[in-house]
Amino acid sequence: MKVGIPRALLYYRYGSLWENYLRNLGVEVVLSPKTDEVILEQGLKCVSGEVCLPIKIVAGHLLYLKERVDAIFFPRLDWLYDGLYACPKMIGIVDVARMLLGEKVRLIAPSIKGNFTRAHLTAGLAVCANPVRVWQGWRRAVRSERGKRGRNEDNLPAAGRRTVALIGHFYNLNDEFIAGAIIRTFRQNGYEVITKESLPGRVLLNRSGFAHNIRWVYERELYNAFEYLLGRVDGFCMVVSMGCGPDSLVAEFMRSRAQRQGVPFLLLVIDEHTGIAGLVTRVEAFVELLNRRCLSRSGVAAGC
Ligand code: SF4
Repeated sequence: MKVGIPRALLYYRYGSLWENYLRNLGVEVVLSPKTDEVILEQGLKCVSGEVCLPIKIVAGHLLYLKERVDAIFFPRLDWLYDGLYACPKMIGIVDVARMLLGEKVRLIAPSIKGNFTRAHLTAGLAVCANPVRVWQGWRRAVRSERGKRGRNEDNLPAAGRRTVALIGHFYNLNDEFIAGAIIRTFRQNGYEVITKESLPGRVLLNRSGFAHNIRWVYERELYNAFEYLLGRVDGFCMVVSMGCGPDSLVAEFMRSRAQRQGVPFLLLVIDEHTGIAGLVTRVEAFVELLNRRCLSRSGVAAGC
């Protein structure tokens, strides 16, 4: 049986776990390719122009897989720990997927409602009738992921390195098509880039202070990363998808907080019309500002 996984959205957090798990169940896994113009064009044709860029992109990945597999594995994240929800577009894209795929391809879309394991075991039984094999396959996949992560400390660049915190959803920042040019430009200009994926769970899952008021699961992570990195980096660059309600609220809060602390903050709002040249220009201008600020603080070029 060939099961496709769209290389978009939650894939960028759980992809290797899913691939391992399905392979443990004897499934042939087919990944959609990296996002490119063709994938995006496909997505644009079939979802509303009102939705955000990552949702348009995942629609293109689903259509790519539709012609090539027997089933598509596309879990639906309703809510995770602490009753924190995914955004409505992320929840709703699974219903859109059902419509896009029609009868041709089976959709394996377990709902994750707080219990991550149960949802995945249910999904496993959809491709493998042996519950013992499903349980063992899941345990093996989880163990192998723990071996890769197991990080308790942050992974900040060494002292004296110029560093920018890139704040944005993992499915945007890890998709080279969306954020590759931004990350490259910072690096080419001598800046280390840190994202929330480098921070330990104890930081991201913090529920005290303002974080307690944020009820979207990934938005809380973004905010916690921002709070933790304030004072530890030279500046922040936040990447927000046009039309993203949760991001726009949290971004505004972070922007004004950074402003009060005198920390440079660049907000990049992206959609399918955003040109790479324009993004690069804005990042370069921001780098210039960071460099000048660094020089004026130290008075000399040492460390800047
Ligand atoms: S959180 Fe924002 S960017 Fe992510 S799926 Fe929802 S609307 Fe789109």
